[in-house]
Amino acid sequence: MNNIAIKINENDNVAVIVNPSGLPAGTVVCENIELLETIPQGHKVALIDIQKGEEIIRYGEVIGIAMKDLPRGSWLAEHNILMPEARELNEVEPMIHDNPTYSTKNKFTFKGYKNSDGSVGTRNVLGIVTSVQCVAGVAEHIAGIIREKLLPDYKNVDGVIPVTHAYGCGVAINAPDAKIPIRSLHNILKNPNFGGAAMILGLGCEKLEPSKLVDQDTDLNNTLVSLQNCEGGFEGMVSAALKIAKEKLEILNKRQRETCPASDLVIGLQCGGSDAFSGITANPAVGFAADMLVNAGGTVLFSEVTEVRDSVQTLLKRALNQDVGQAIIREMKWYDNYLEKGGVDRSANTTPGNKQGGLSNIVEKSLGSIIKSGSTPIVDVLSHGEKIRTKGLIYAATPANDFVCGTQQLASGITLQVFTTGRGTPYNLPLAPVIKVSSRTSLSDSWFDLIDLDAGRIATGVESIESVGRELLEMILQAASGEYITAADKLNLFNDLSVFNPAPMT
Ligand code: CA
Repeated sequence: MNNIAIKINENDNVAVIVNPSGLPAGTVVCENIELLETIPQGHKVALIDIQKGEEIIRYGEVIGIAMKDLPRGSWLAEHNILMPEARELNEVEPMIHDNPTYSTKNKFTFKGYKNSDGSVGTRNVLGIVTSVQCVAGVAEHIAGIIREKLLPDYKNVDGVIPVTHAYGCGVAINAPDAKIPIRSLHNILKNPNFGGAAMILGLGCEKLEPSKLVDQDTDLNNTLVSLQNCEGGFEGMVSAALKIAKEKLEILNKRQRETCPASDLVIGLQCGGSDAFSGITANPAVGFAADMLVNAGGTVLFSEVTEVRDSVQTLLKRALNQDVGQAIIREMKWYDNYLEKGGVDRSANTTPGNKQGGLSNIVEKSLGSIIKSGSTPIVDVLSHGEKIRTKGLIYAATPANDFVCGTQQLASGITLQVFTTGRGTPYNLPLAPVIKVSSRTSLSDSWFDLIDLDAGRIATGVESIESVGRELLEMILQAASGEYITAADKLNLFNDLSVFNPAPMT
């Protein structure tokens, strides 16, 4: 392996050593820098002479202040970097940007399913959305019959997905935060991959009345089966549900893939099982692809409040306007309060392991997560489970928990997710393709049939951030077209959806 130091942003005055056992003093790395001392893997080298008191820039952002003069080639770590002052949410001010103009030069396309509301799906799926956990077993049973007996007659329909969850009854339905799980389920039903033809399975006496899952003027007669209204025991329930399922399948079967511009795509970004390489390889490559997609007019959501909270000042610098900036602050404050109510300290300080791995402080750590979102302005902010209102780069507040984040992004309307991982996870969503990007080649080698794209090649010098980013964009367009089947989809591995419910149970 060559001697490799990775610089992420052109404004950075540091690069990170990626060779497995670090590099000894005297080694020459990028930009003809000679290391003045031995630098461990994951740690930073000064690319220019940095004077005491000057800013240390990584990801194009200030990650600290030099505590002494640091000549070019020096090892920079916690012992000589002063962490930037933590900013209170009340003290930060959003910056104002011009409205972004998106280049239409790169006309990327995919083959998607157009919907009457203007949205475009990447799949054509019958949804059986439940209003309460009581009916989950019945929903699974009906889905099984549909798969076996009905789907072979509806060639254009990709599958059937029961949307089950723990919400719906035994909950404080009028609690202020109950609006979050309710609107999340309401919006999941509208996910573009369901083609506006999802059916609802209810019990009859649940607190979450099925009418709350649809728009006010919707006629539920051809959509809802309430088990307590069915005659004839279990068989009666099944035949009532299959009758409605057939009607929905007729509608879905008329859908055909059509060539659509990339601006019709809505993708979500997430990470899970991150490692010290996530912020060097996988996340920057995803950021590159995110920029390309946004610049082509597409929509990209990034989330996970606790992952980004500690570099909120960076997010605010990218807010399109005052309203977007205030919305970011609003969501961060809401989550601070939520954690505080649970008696949890939000200050997820870097662990000793993080520091050994080269992350000097929490700001640097969260910048490594934010880099997934690329560099375009943040044009809108969604509260938990809200549906997208505009195209471009959007911050959608969710917990960092993989399953909850995935579910909440589906509610916001994503039709595909990109998931970066360092340690590896078999995570997958049943409703939209999930492309898994590994931060290290060793993971994609050992999990060769679970990882879709190896960004670790950036660290071995085989590929660049840009080339892996371009590969990822191509993979996104193919997966959205149904032409690339993701690793986890091939293996039929799916996690349950997990709706965020911060409100009390009763
Ligand atoms: Ca996560």
